[in-house]
Amino acid sequence: MEQDTGKEDTGKEARERAARRDAAVRAAVEQGLLGPDAALVGLLDVTGIRESAAALRAAFDAVTAPGTPVLHAFAVKATPLVPVLRLLHEEGIGAEAASPGELALARAAGLPPERTVLDSPAKTTAELREALASGIAVNADNPQELRRLDALVASAPTRSALGLRVNPQVGGGSIGATSTATRTSKFGVALRDDGARSWVVRAYADRPWLTRLHAHTGSQGVPLPLMARGVAEAYALAEEINAHVGRPQVDTLDIGGGLPVDFTAETTAPTYAAYARLLAGEVPGLFDGRYGLVTEFGRSLLARHGTVVARVEYTKSAGGRRIAVTHAGVQVATRTVYAPGAWPLRIAAYDGRGRRKTGPEVVQDVAGPACFSGDLLAEARALPLLEQGDYAAALDTGAYCFAHHYAYNSLARPAVHGFTPDGPAGVAFATVRAAQTTAELVAESGAAHASSLTTLRAPGSR
Ligand SMILES: *Cc1c(COP(=O)(O)O)cnc(C)c1O
Repeated sequence: MEQDTGKEDTGKEARERAARRDAAVRAAVEQGLLGPDAALVGLLDVTGIRESAAALRAAFDAVTAPGTPVLHAFAVKATPLVPVLRLLHEEGIGAEAASPGELALARAAGLPPERTVLDSPAKTTAELREALASGIAVNADNPQELRRLDALVASAPTRSALGLRVNPQVGGGSIGATSTATRTSKFGVALRDDGARSWVVRAYADRPWLTRLHAHTGSQGVPLPLMARGVAEAYALAEEINAHVGRPQVDTLDIGGGLPVDFTAETTAPTYAAYARLLAGEVPGLFDGRYGLVTEFGRSLLARHGTVVARVEYTKSAGGRRIAVTHAGVQVATRTVYAPGAWPLRIAAYDGRGRRKTGPEVVQDVAGPACFSGDLLAEARALPLLEQGDYAAALDTGAYCFAHHYAYNSLARPAVHGFTPDGPAGVAFATVRAAQTTAELVAESGAAHASSLTTLRAPGSR
């Protein structure tokens, strides 16, 4: 299998994205969204999000037969913010939800049930009942869940498209925690286990209402050819099921998401176009019009378009190492701080007025505010020297980063602002999420129950 990394992003889009980001940081300082009293914000590039959504649609439009139903369902977990889901909905992108909370976010964003897919390995009967009542597509994870669906389908009619998730067990990538298709992965029916494949075929034969097949075999760290192999395995299984039952019962393949993001460079590679072409080459039957398609991309749609910007509160040196102490650390870049090797982030340096810093590079640590020594956004990174009052920006953090606040040290969730160019050199901002207030933080930490423990007595004690 040829590796197609799709280096066709000429760099123009990347340069424009970087220019929009620089303008946004400067405008955020000028407009007071960033400053001594707002030392940490998340910024989202609305133009970039729209561009990625359009690129995704165009990539699959280019390889599918005319009239093929295609639902691109954004994996809500990547950026669980209602205005983002609404923006994507406007761009023709649906939602893949994996919890009652994510379903509620999709609903709040205005996504109709027929544009929503429910996955998750631990759906309760109540969640399943609600999904089937509203017509949301559901992918069952395992035989026990399928039995719950049996009972629900028998008890009330449903418009929901129903499928089964399989794990083609094609192997993992370079990051264990995001490898979904290993031999022992917790997701789906492990297709290569003894008897599993024939069980799946029978499960479909017994259930005429089971019309979808789902496999999400990639995520960050999984090479493209391996992802394509997962899709090819799912396709082959769909063909086998349909041949066995003698009719096109499986009418839609949900191929999951998982396109990786290159966090070391500005240019996007691989692109959606490259992935779609690779799939069309490897699994042509999937695109000839006999199957509808669902995709579930998360990281690749949003990561590039988020920037977390933090003020440099202090600078110091220790053991000969320069250290910039900022307000962004484990609370907004949890994976990077705990697993820096797997999740490196590019850092950009801005001065106190929000202008990109140039000048000689100095090896320095960019530290966060949390009280453990490993709380570093970047270690021994060569950057223009960060000084007190400057800003450090962690790039490509629009997915699985600042939207996923980790409440270590009771650090408050930062505000998130969307931005778009506005007139000559201007930038317009809109609130995506307000900063968490100290009062909210205290309330969420049990303030209403302050004396619950001191008044709790075992029966008979005094
Ligand atoms: C997380 C997840 C996705 C999205 O993965 P990305 O790597 O963010 O594209 C899609 N489908 C399922 C079932 C997932 O769990």
